[in-house]
Amino acid sequence: MNAPRTLRYPAELVESGLVSAEKLPALEDVAARYAVAITPEIVGLIDPADDADPIARQYVPDPAELRTTPDETGDPIGDKIHEVSEGLIHRYPDRVLLKFVHVCAVYCRFCFRREMVGPQAPHLTPQALENALDYIRSHPDIWEVIASGGDPLVASPRRISELVQALADIDHVKVVRFHTRVPMVAPERVTDALVASLAAPGVTGWVAIHANHPREFTPAARAAIARLADAGIPLVSQTVLLAGINDDAETLGQLMRTFVENRVKPYYLHHGDLAPGTGHFRTSLAAGQNLMRALRGRVSGLCQPTYVLDIPGGHGKAPVGPSYVETTPEAVSVEDYRGGKHPYRPDKIRTES
Ligand SMILES: *Cc1c(COP(=O)(O)O)cnc(C)c1O
Ligand code: SF4
Repeated sequence: MNAPRTLRYPAELVESGLVSAEKLPALEDVAARYAVAITPEIVGLIDPADDADPIARQYVPDPAELRTTPDETGDPIGDKIHEVSEGLIHRYPDRVLLKFVHVCAVYCRFCFRREMVGPQAPHLTPQALENALDYIRSHPDIWEVIASGGDPLVASPRRISELVQALADIDHVKVVRFHTRVPMVAPERVTDALVASLAAPGVTGWVAIHANHPREFTPAARAAIARLADAGIPLVSQTVLLAGINDDAETLGQLMRTFVENRVKPYYLHHGDLAPGTGHFRTSLAAGQNLMRALRGRVSGLCQPTYVLDIPGGHGKAPVGPSYVETTPEAVSVEDYRGGKHPYRPDKIRTES
């Protein structure tokens, strides 16, 4: 038998039994437009007999991706408007996002950068990277650099180390944050050399781990996360709210608990962006808010992410979770986790003067 490898072509998906042969022509059309990759770790998790398998739906292409609605765009969060140097997005004053590599270990079917990621241009050229670093050097307000992509942990430890060292040499840059799916989908890549490359004296490395379903925490993924945590790298999570995958309180609560059990602090629950061909994954904002309410009652405070929407047009992320405070000119009322409303009447009313 051949060593397991990443599946990249619809014909391979048919051959491996992940999709039926009659879907092949439609999937060839999907694959011509959006990159496909499913790692052995993920293939091993998929139950091909289950049409609604929450792992398969995240990674196996679907003819539904060929349907694009007028509100969807190739740049749903407005990266282009704030691109200050090739691959460098400066949307907020104190941090920049660096699209360090354009490839990923897997291609998520709901990816918000799906028109920009794929094997056609693997990473920033050395010149583009140097230009981005020059921009960061000349902007003393930049405190944090977010390495994204694509998936920055697909790069070699040597390239990551060079980036981290270059950032460590810039006095005003204190934090480098890596957004990645690698520990979950290609845990064997989290080697000692990779872990060591993520921080250097002068810059603190953080890792934001992307996972959307508790079943993604395989023994190998848990071990990869533990290698990062044991090295003292602070870990946070990010999850995309996905219809039929994690949009029920039971699954979402279990996912957040699993992060915490693995020393990953839940950070963001992203509302689905208006990326092309992803309508079948999107929920309503009201549904997301109801889930957040359910989480508040159901699981520990450690397990609460912030529910955010990246405002279309490049305006940045806004928290869109439910509010528990209702203020009228006469009174303030606060809601408890069961939905009970309570007047809040402190003895001392502070008056603005
Ligand atoms: C999401 C994002 C960030 C990071 O935002 P945080 O709220 O700090 O996690 C930074 N820059 C860009 C361009 C982003 O899209
Ligand atoms: S790993 Fe991230 S960038 Fe890559 S396809 Fe998935 S969501 Fe998109």
